[in-house]
Amino acid sequence: MSMPTLNACTVNDLLMSCPDEQIIRLKNAWKAAAAGDWREAAGSLRNAAKEGTTNWHDQCAVLAVELDNKAAMADKEEFAGNCKRCGHQTVASKPGVVACKWGGCNGVVRAA
Ligand SMILES: [Zn+2]
Repeated sequence: MSMPTLNACTVNDLLMSCPDEQIIRLKNAWKAAAAGDWREAAGSLRNAAKEGTTNWHDQCAVLAVELDNKAAMADKEEFAGNCKRCGHQTVASKPGVVACKWGGCNGVVRAA
């Protein structure tokens, strides 16, 4: 499943053209996006967007909305993975790393 990109702008683009006073926020946003934490990334971008009215700030706001949408989609996704501890296959509602639900195993399960 791939989503159409509404805007070619990425967190990386915005980081590269970032005003000095927003560099910490944009680095946070970049790190969060790299880790797949879209909500965290969107929050940092939204905070940056609030502090100015340039095209760059507008692009932060647009990208924040895109990342929120991406987070909402990710929440609905299901995936099956194998637990690293007990080996059972389990289905989780979030992509990434989740705890195994088999009998309180709590082993790490990763998306296949
Ligand atoms: Zn397990």
